Amino acid sequence: MSNKPALLLIYTGGTIGMVRHPKHGQLVPFDFNGISTLMPELQQFDLELESISFAQPIDSSNVTPEHWVELAQLIHDNYDRYIGFVILHGSDTMAYTASALSFMLTPLSKPVIITGSQLPIGMIRNDARENLITSIEIASAYEHGVPLVPEVCIYFDNLLLRGNRSKKFNAEKFEAFQSPNYPPLAEAATRIRYNHSYIRERGRQSLSVRTKFGNQIGVLKLFPGISEHFANSLLADQEMKALIVESFGSGNVPSKPWLNKLLATLVDRGVAVVVLTQCLGGSVELGKYEVSAPLVALGCISGLDITFEACLTKLMILLGEGADAEGIRQAFLQNWAGEITV
Ligand code: ASP
Repeated sequence: MSNKPALLLIYTGGTIGMVRHPKHGQLVPFDFNGISTLMPELQQFDLELESISFAQPIDSSNVTPEHWVELAQLIHDNYDRYIGFVILHGSDTMAYTASALSFMLTPLSKPVIITGSQLPIGMIRNDARENLITSIEIASAYEHGVPLVPEVCIYFDNLLLRGNRSKKFNAEKFEAFQSPNYPPLAEAATRIRYNHSYIRERGRQSLSVRTKFGNQIGVLKLFPGISEHFANSLLADQEMKALIVESFGSGNVPSKPWLNKLLATLVDRGVAVVVLTQCLGGSVELGKYEVSAPLVALGCISGLDITFEACLTKLMILLGEGADAEGIRQAFLQNWAGEITV
């Protein structure tokens, strides 16, 4: 038994773990237990690197709350054994998983770094190796026994971002993620520069896991010329308990009586209506312009500067835990894991 600190790599699937099939040449998930053969340089870490893989690696487009529960339980059950965790995950829905985990694992006192890549580890030119190596370095970075980043983060192309502030914004470039409303927690160059003042303090109590999710959520993305008929089709969903309205600018919506009536009907039904902005950065400010004043009168909740991914997963957890519209309003506007500026 070695006395090196141990770190757990969790492979869920995605491009990062793909190699060319020796026969047909197509990209297929590789057996993650062979990672140290593929990347012998990992042995240079003064760490016991252990790995575990989803039984069925997935393209992250297929991720569901059940996968989030599996990940959170895995971290919870192995929490004392490891100094940190690195999750390898497809980039497409990485920001959703990062947001969900940041709300599920509380209070967190160890690093959980999620990474992936745009090109597979099995291709000659790739971003996978650097992303994985630096994620391991960050997940094992401690000073005087205290982890430097006790948060759920995304590491991608030299940037360490708070997971629940991140968005995939580029489908091609190595620089695939941004967190427009929060500064990077670290930047990796010849050395890794941590922005200590932006990093959350580690939790002091023991870790608990939230595991309940609801999905009775609708999304209304507004656009110029949106039809009454299309918007009213939302009324057919009698199960809906929360609606995310993706508005313009700082929370602005077209001044249409039918839109007011639609939202009023939903609010009367007990649906919590959360207003986000379609802008990548900045915050919703309901009532700033005349065109958003009706939303205030209707009792809509301002999503402030939260991302869509964090908003959605926060609502899913609140619904899973049985919150009604008023419960959602109160809990939503609290800052759970650095996801919102209140
Ligand atoms: N479709 C892939 C996934 O999200 C893309 C990636 O890994 O980056 O699983």
